[in-house]
Amino acid sequence: MPDPTPLLDCRQIGVAYHGVSALVDVDFDVQAGEVHGLVGCNGAGKSTLMKVLAGVVPQYTGEIHLGGLPIRLDSPRRAIAHGIAMVYQELSGIGQLSVAENLFLSRQPRTRFGNIDWRRMRREARQALAELDIDIDVSRPLREFPLVIRQMVEIARGLHSGARVLILDEPTSALSLPEARRLFELMRTLKSRGVSLIFISHFLEDVLTVCDRVTILRDGRKLLTDQSAKLNRRAIIEQMVGGETAAAGQDATEVTLKPESKEPIRLRVDRWTRRGCFTGVSFKVHRGECLGLYGFVGAGHQELLHTIAGAQPVQAGEIRIDNSPRRIRHVADAVEQGVVLVGADRGQTVVRGASIARNITLAHLATSVGSWITTRKEVMVSQPVLEQVGCRPPDPCKPAGQLSGGNQQKVVLGKWLLGPIHVLLLEEPTRGMDVHAKTEIMRLVREQQKLGAAVILASTEPEMLLTYADRILTFSRGQVTAEFSGKLVTKADLMHAAERELERHD
Ligand code: ADP
Ligand code: MG
Repeated sequence: MPDPTPLLDCRQIGVAYHGVSALVDVDFDVQAGEVHGLVGCNGAGKSTLMKVLAGVVPQYTGEIHLGGLPIRLDSPRRAIAHGIAMVYQELSGIGQLSVAENLFLSRQPRTRFGNIDWRRMRREARQALAELDIDIDVSRPLREFPLVIRQMVEIARGLHSGARVLILDEPTSALSLPEARRLFELMRTLKSRGVSLIFISHFLEDVLTVCDRVTILRDGRKLLTDQSAKLNRRAIIEQMVGGETAAAGQDATEVTLKPESKEPIRLRVDRWTRRGCFTGVSFKVHRGECLGLYGFVGAGHQELLHTIAGAQPVQAGEIRIDNSPRRIRHVADAVEQGVVLVGADRGQTVVRGASIARNITLAHLATSVGSWITTRKEVMVSQPVLEQVGCRPPDPCKPAGQLSGGNQQKVVLGKWLLGPIHVLLLEEPTRGMDVHAKTEIMRLVREQQKLGAAVILASTEPEMLLTYADRILTFSRGQVTAEFSGKLVTKADLMHAAERELERHD
């Protein structure tokens, strides 16, 4: 039974973004010295609830009490003043600055002359980290350290600013197993010192091991809070996914996959390894097939696409296209071989200030418009592409940044259509798009499949893969943990396989 007066008590929390509810009447409480797990599918509202506590969603409704007194968390500053600190999924540290500077960001100690007291800063930084059993050179830039250390520095920073409640939003998803264990050790140490921790993770086994209690969210509502000892992984996944049925026009939550294709193998990847991301990954994709890669953020499947596209290096492994060995060292090598990537970060793939026409011709300038580029030629080349992909408006002279997300993605696909596409790599290709835009994009992908392209679709959304993939591999901590083909597979099956933990052998 929870203590009658919890340290932190949230009642009936509601949040709407532009009129759309993200949280509805959520009750959530944390005891002093408790590790409280927060779980739910993508979009369940976990991060939003934590952002309320961190003071970055001031428009919330409901009441929050701290130590029995009502508080209003209307700014990050206020949250910190109340002793609530958040370690973000995307780390907020500054890589170029030293560890010590990061620990003291905006609160550097001063000498009596008003200058920053570097010596004292370094000494206190060393002390703060030593208390957490971290022994590193605090004068080195933060970016030189592995992710787990950067996270620990974030945690130390929170503690040093006086945090009593620390929020860890998916801290372990990009960590290797030993690193994750190291973080759990630290969490235990903090707990023994009376710090409360809220831990968000997709790795339910971890959640059950390190947390005292667990709260499950689904579609912005709280389903239950219970002691970890009374829960198990299977029951949690059932609750998280619970009774979801695909409405018309919505993505599938289960599907019977076809058996593996009998078409010739277009791409074969063997023992592909990138240090810190994935190890010994082997698979093949047939002509016309769509291979799905599923894993949580940081599982390594997304980085895998970037390496095949030549955008990131690998340390080992071989690649064959149409049964002949290939070397792909740069993006240009890949493009030349017909291997193209549509990345998740449209900010990086779309030149927002450039015209739509320029965006389309960019990748194949020499071959599409020749070496003498004129706007007229660019427009001539890009017009039919815009028609083909159904870009709205089909105006080649408009800046690409003015298009909707779906139409920007059509431009990205369109730019690759000017050359051959043998292998099409898609990383969350429809993230943030409405159903209509999503269907349009995936129709273009299907057309390429019909022409013989091998498609690899990497996503953190199980529904996306169940809807579009012919065969699915699951990734966990940089390794393939399961392959699904030729049988019924459910969202829960994928989630189980994505948190399977294999020891990494690198
Ligand atoms: P989780 O962390 O459980 O994956 P989130 O809290 O990030 O879920 O999201 C909950 C819901 O709120 C989702 O439907 C998401 O699309 C929406 N949402 C989250 N952040 C924003 C935002 N800044 N603007 C609009 N909608 C948002
Ligand atoms: Mg989240």
